[in-house]
Amino acid sequence: MHEMAICESIRQTLQAQSKAHNFTRVKRVCLEIGPLAGVEPEALRFGFDVVMRGSVAEGAQLEIIDCHAKAWCMNCAETVPIQQRFDACIKCGSHQLQITAGEELRIKELEVN
Ligand SMILES: [Zn+2]
Repeated sequence: MHEMAICESIRQTLQAQSKAHNFTRVKRVCLEIGPLAGVEPEALRFGFDVVMRGSVAEGAQLEIIDCHAKAWCMNCAETVPIQQRFDACIKCGSHQLQITAGEELRIKELEVN
């Protein structure tokens, strides 16, 4: 399961951060997930609780921030909102879009002790 691997890597990041910044407990993890990241937030939530057991983030609250996907339309020469990866431009219908936002998967904020 893809989401478990993501949780594993979050766990490793948090463990490394706790050593680097001297904290022992993570209370809250704020994750930013783009709609094009290919992640199921529910599966991620489930995996998170399981994977964080025994780590600095055991019992931490997981907050997921949805962000919007955007693309650059070469035809319109401007940024337009998109819903999915192969969407056409909502203004001109062109498929010559370059995704500029929506693929992110990153830790945006941490609340630690
Ligand atoms: Zn366009």
